Amino acid sequence: MEPDNSTDSRASTCEPQTLFGIGASPGIVVARIFVLKKHTHRTVWKRLDSGQVEEEINRFLRAAEQAESELRELRRTFAGDLADALSIIDSHILILKDQMILERTVDIIREKEINVEWALDQALGRIKKRFDTIADPYIRQRYVDVKNVVDRVFGLLSGHEEDVLTGINEKVIVVGHDFSPEDTLRMQTENVLGFITEEGGMTSHTAIVARSLNIPAVVGLGDVTRDCVSGDTIILDGFFGRVYLHPTPDQLCQYREYDRQHRNFSEELALYIHLASETLDGHRVRLAGNIEMRDEVQSVLRYGAEGIGLFRSEFDYFNCDQIPDEDMLTSTYSTLVSTLAPMPVTIRTLDVGGDKFSRYLPDSGIRPGVERNPALGLRSIRYSLREPALFRTQLRALLRASVHGRLRILLPMISSLSELQHVKGILLQVKAELTRKQIPFDTNVELGIMIEVPSAVIMADSLAKAVDFFSIGTNDLIQYSLAIDRGNQYVAHMYEPFHPAVLRMIKQTVDAGHGQGIEVSLCGEMAGEVVSAAVLFGLGLDELSMRPSAIPHVRRILRRSDYGQLVELSHAVLSCNDGGEVRNFLTRYLPSTYPEEFGCR
Ligand code: PEP
Ligand code: MG
Repeated sequence: MEPDNSTDSRASTCEPQTLFGIGASPGIVVARIFVLKKHTHRTVWKRLDSGQVEEEINRFLRAAEQAESELRELRRTFAGDLADALSIIDSHILILKDQMILERTVDIIREKEINVEWALDQALGRIKKRFDTIADPYIRQRYVDVKNVVDRVFGLLSGHEEDVLTGINEKVIVVGHDFSPEDTLRMQTENVLGFITEEGGMTSHTAIVARSLNIPAVVGLGDVTRDCVSGDTIILDGFFGRVYLHPTPDQLCQYREYDRQHRNFSEELALYIHLASETLDGHRVRLAGNIEMRDEVQSVLRYGAEGIGLFRSEFDYFNCDQIPDEDMLTSTYSTLVSTLAPMPVTIRTLDVGGDKFSRYLPDSGIRPGVERNPALGLRSIRYSLREPALFRTQLRALLRASVHGRLRILLPMISSLSELQHVKGILLQVKAELTRKQIPFDTNVELGIMIEVPSAVIMADSLAKAVDFFSIGTNDLIQYSLAIDRGNQYVAHMYEPFHPAVLRMIKQTVDAGHGQGIEVSLCGEMAGEVVSAAVLFGLGLDELSMRPSAIPHVRRILRRSDYGQLVELSHAVLSCNDGGEVRNFLTRYLPSTYPEEFGCR
């Protein structure tokens, strides 16, 4: 990336313009922009003398090593926090070491006696071809990660690995085509107030990192870099995914006021870490944290979570170079359960397949590109049932950890009662085995299922009789009910959490769970979105589980609400006819009901 300081006649002649993108990270910013142009590496072909080949290979390996040590350094800087961002860096480190890049490039230099830049470009070209043939769009898009990593090495080889933020010496909103997760992490300086990208969706890496860093962001804005130049003042509204280019004086004045209110308000949010999660009239909702790694347990406590509502256990299988054994898993789960005790800790069993793979897991045919429809294929619980030894190991570890506090075991992607009964049968056998061996466990350990496919919603009343709790996974429930691939940028605009079909399914699940006296939680991304909080409370959920940093804000909304009004709100949105109608309604309702959160727009 390089700063674009060119002057553009469009800038002075442009009319006020409102652009609609995706509000990837909440917040309002009014500031000047700093446009970063996409940097392209020009690759020259150079034939080497035979005597130069080994030195050329060493030059490449040194650059790759340096790239790795830079990534590790960046990772260290943020250690223990920002887990989502860190797991992306980990994956980039793995890519860097992948033989498709390292060995391929070395082989090409050696075989063809050509310079490293050319060889690396060739290796990248082959990788691209392979990615292009992958049917699953999410995995196909992960080529972006490979490209990010290779671009970093190119930069080091050319000696021009410039810091993307060089030249930013005032507080700005950064605008660019897209940023690598590492670029985004580096934006955590006081000069970057927000950012805007042309590419990306709610689940793109830029969006995930922006949310981890609490930097307001709007992504997926098409050709925005064409329509603005560095120095223009714009308004970024990360709540509603709007950007005002060349705003009118009135808009500026209005948004500067929202901005001011919002800043004061952000400072006040810290107070909500320690307050009870209840409405003005005493209705309580538990606010819990979603985490992927054991190290994040501190951030769960720091933000005042009342438990862990979702531990995505599969990340333990991704972050090391072997399958964790029973003792390793027991130690992780015990740490979580004992650190949070007596608060509940919900650990989800392995949820691999779909968009999540590990080369260390037994290959049951779920290698990227092998399945035609991975999201509908050997995913989640289906994989665990196909790999019973692996599954039993995890269940044993969970049961062993259950003696340290309140553990809740959560099964992902259950789609029928018989599937659930199958798992319960295995769990009974594992319990019997532990009893035989006199290994202690909590005989009353709670068992719950994720409600993330429509069949589970429809059968929720039957399923509720067989479990202790439900946890609604809206990330997948939206994907499966609206037929929208959650990682596909071309249909990202149709991925609508406020689709009345989704809201009605949540309500149906809550009613079915409550009908059988069990708790219903929601742990999809929408649980941590301030625009959805009031609606979700009104739908009657007992727990919302979200990225920990969102908890104080969501709690504030709860504490400013009257439960009767929240229920009325839920009735209003449930009677809407489509997602746009719900959003329009909320665009009016939320700012007038919670002016400090949303500004009086
Ligand atoms: C979900 O689907 O909403 C969920 C929380 O699970 P994941 O995002 O890990 O699929
Ligand atoms: Mg899911």
